[in-house]
Amino acid sequence: MLATKKDFPVFKNNPGLIYLDSAATSLKPKSVIEKITEYYSAYSANVFRGVYRISEKATDEFETARRLVAELIGGDKDEIIFTRNTTEAINLVAYSLGRKIIDKDDEIILSIMEHHANFVPWQALASETGAKLKILNIDDQGFLECHDNLEKKLAPLITRRTKIVSLVLVSNVLGTINPVLKIFKLVKKVNSKIINVVDAAQAVPHQEVNVRDLGADFLAFSSHKMLGPTGVGVLWGKKEILKEIFPFNFGGEMIETVTIKKTTFKKPPHKFEAGTPAIGEVIGLGEAIRYLKKIGLKKIADHERTLTTMALRRLKETFDKKITIFGPADPEKRAGIISFTFSNFHPHDIASILDKQGIAVRAGHHCAMPLHQRLGQLATTRVSFYLYNDLEDIEHLIDGLKKVETLLGK
Ligand code: PMP
Repeated sequence: MLATKKDFPVFKNNPGLIYLDSAATSLKPKSVIEKITEYYSAYSANVFRGVYRISEKATDEFETARRLVAELIGGDKDEIIFTRNTTEAINLVAYSLGRKIIDKDDEIILSIMEHHANFVPWQALASETGAKLKILNIDDQGFLECHDNLEKKLAPLITRRTKIVSLVLVSNVLGTINPVLKIFKLVKKVNSKIINVVDAAQAVPHQEVNVRDLGADFLAFSSHKMLGPTGVGVLWGKKEILKEIFPFNFGGEMIETVTIKKTTFKKPPHKFEAGTPAIGEVIGLGEAIRYLKKIGLKKIADHERTLTTMALRRLKETFDKKITIFGPADPEKRAGIISFTFSNFHPHDIASILDKQGIAVRAGHHCAMPLHQRLGQLATTRVSFYLYNDLEDIEHLIDGLKKVETLLGK
């Protein structure tokens, strides 16, 4: 265990809980909960508006959180837009930028392993504009089919009509870590005007991510998956592009002047943050980043790799052919997310029997229906790790699955 379970009150309130669903949302440490309480009890004023002390304090804490986010991912403070979640961040790009640059017959490249958050907004944009989606497929190991020979397999897909490439960095089902840097480099080499978007919802919480190293134009992630509160997401976007695109929401706080005839907008990021933001939650996200930095994202990634290596081995040696694990077999090439089918047992039955033993896992399509169609499955069972998990949790999972087998028949 990398972080003590004592830091996470959920464990105290649910004795015996084995939490293996951090890909859905992470647990929250005491320090984050206390920071949110501090905002609501000590300086719960609105931001940017007041000239009085508690409003200035709230604004200061809010903007400190923005700086912490920027430092975490290697961006500039003015490039950090607070949204509600990853989903809203990607929708912002699809609306503000997509509707500006996409015409009929233009092309948007996605992959079959996208979460619906990085699929449906583009599909909606395509159906509205008459653009086309080009979908990168996966091989049977769960890698993008083009991953081993981008020049040959990806370059021909990029045409003069390609406007946007939007890809997930770490799959929330397969755990595959995609070679996004190499892909984006190739895309820019073919046409530097193509916009590269990365869904980093399962990456930023678990490994070091630097937006400049990724060669991205936009990157999206959610606070609630990285020890922070729900209700806050982040969109990082390149300054030059943010300046050019129109806001997504309109109203208070994002304007410079308003007359009956015309409104002018503030500079980014504020022009994309209409209305009162989730102040306490943003401040809570700042505290989550402090917690993550104290441990170190490199250590977190190593810890999860150890757990994943052990889990893959224990699942295979215990259940052998009865279990089918999707995604790369090599733990070095995947993150701490393991989706599987087990005999012909229904994933929901598996999850509810595990729940009776205090083990929380996810069953379903994990908001990735096109991927499940590609895998030929309606649903899978998914376990996912974070810094509070340990090797004992894996043994509990193995014992839990043995019980599933006993109850549902071999
Ligand atoms: N992308 C990926 C890869 C995800 O795993 C998730 C959350 N499951 C999302 C996007 C959407 O995140 P949110 O629900 O916080 O918008």
